[in-house]
Amino acid sequence: MTAYAHPGTPGALVEYKPRYENWIGGEWVPPVDGRYFENITPVTGKVFTEIPQSNAADIELALDAAHRAAPTWNKTSPAERAALLNRIADVMEANLEKLAVAETWDNGKAVREPLAADIPLAIDHFRYFASAIRTQEGRLSQIDEDTVAYHFHEPLGVVGQIIPWNFPILMATWKLAPALAAGNCVVLKPAEQTPASILYLMELLADIIPPGVVNIVNGFGAEAGKPLASNKRIAKIAFTGETTTGRLIMQYASQNIIPVTLELGGKSPNIFFEDVAAEKDAFYDKALEGYAMFSLNQGEVCTCPSRALIQRSIYDSFLGDALGRVEATVQGDPLDPATQIGAQASNDQYEKILSYIDIGKQEGAKILTGGEPNELGGDLAGGYYIKPTVFEGSNSMRLFQEEIFGPVVATTSFADYDEAMSIANDTLYGLGSGVWTRNGNTAFRAGRTIQAGRVWVNNYHAYPAHAAFGGYKSSGIGRENHLMMLDHYQQTKNLLVSY
Ligand code: NAD
Repeated sequence: MTAYAHPGTPGALVEYKPRYENWIGGEWVPPVDGRYFENITPVTGKVFTEIPQSNAADIELALDAAHRAAPTWNKTSPAERAALLNRIADVMEANLEKLAVAETWDNGKAVREPLAADIPLAIDHFRYFASAIRTQEGRLSQIDEDTVAYHFHEPLGVVGQIIPWNFPILMATWKLAPALAAGNCVVLKPAEQTPASILYLMELLADIIPPGVVNIVNGFGAEAGKPLASNKRIAKIAFTGETTTGRLIMQYASQNIIPVTLELGGKSPNIFFEDVAAEKDAFYDKALEGYAMFSLNQGEVCTCPSRALIQRSIYDSFLGDALGRVEATVQGDPLDPATQIGAQASNDQYEKILSYIDIGKQEGAKILTGGEPNELGGDLAGGYYIKPTVFEGSNSMRLFQEEIFGPVVATTSFADYDEAMSIANDTLYGLGSGVWTRNGNTAFRAGRTIQAGRVWVNNYHAYPAHAAFGGYKSSGIGRENHLMMLDHYQQTKNLLVSY
């Protein structure tokens, strides 16, 4: 398969508009103050479109539209909501390739990922919640001989949602699908680094979503995010982003006593027990692949397996083989389906990762491969490319404790099971983790001992819609995916009836 033509060049599958507006009340609405900011593609480092730089006034317009739509949408039947979600999924499926290219151009990721994962997962997510809402049932309890309690699910009303830049369309989907299924209207703010692919998606969905049910307002965190998260007119705020921002979101929400769900950062351990190397077979190969997954999505994944723990008895040989895998990973034009690692999402993120590579060196950690930008030529010369980087060090280093959010893995060894568990849990975070072993008992014990919302055993980076996902400790509050998401977007009404 040949590379997709870059937007703006002959034969491009996707053309972005030179300027976008906010999507409010079913219309494209310019920002109240008339300000726009430039959106850059990380693939080349060049500006490709302009985005509204919204503020509190734009948020109020979006909330007006959402509140106008809510009395009708809140009362729709599960069947009507399911029909909308299924129509969204159908449109996305019909435009899968375009959405994947649009996502790559906005975010820099290798197009093979949105083609095979981000967009198909998003489609499945809409379909999953379309089914889930049709099967949700209320409860009835007999209180005494002549009294019963009915438990009803009700939509919250209008909710606010704020998302990051690493999986723009998928993160928007994780928030929109359950909120809409539960009968809510939404005001969503995309990340300022990657607003365009979501607006491109809204162009495709413009005719099928009732006006005001979904509103997209763009802008920066302090100017547009804060007035949304702290607004008295939202019944809930759902946030994905950094732990430091999550703390602010909780403060804002506390003023209005509204529920918060937070999907925050991580520093996930990926643990390789010695029995992995008992044979150099397909299982061993899969484990090596599991190690190299730290560079998937350029390492810009909240569950990035950014701490690798290898049992000492196999440390040198396993790491030697794993380095071979890492060095064979193809980095290049993100729009080439052969490319496995694309560009970091923004110049700021690129600089942050390089600064962490310096910190690692200063701390005395050893670079085993990478550790520098990848200078690609031609059109890609201005893009943000960093070679996948393997460090060796110890768990007390900043490299092991702080989220880098790049293609960087900090590797260390452990003597036995107890030491592995102690290193794994010695972190502020508790989002993801990987356990690789042929021993079912070790797998089960480790799975129950690691303090993280998701433990992958003998696999990594799978995100099915029906598996609850979320963090322990500073990685968040609440879960995404799974039926339980509906509870996060609904009130429970208890009607106590005597007869
Ligand atoms: P960020 O916290 O800087 O920004 C996230 C969003 O919050 C953006 O839309 C931003 O504009 C907005 N924001 C910033 N300040 C705000 C404020 N004061 N009030 C309201 N909104 C504000 O995070 P980021 O750098 O965009 O994303 C990377 C982070 O997201 C990483 O820490 C990563 O681990 C995390 N993440 C977590 C998950 C998860 O499911 N746990 C998934 C993806 C990313």
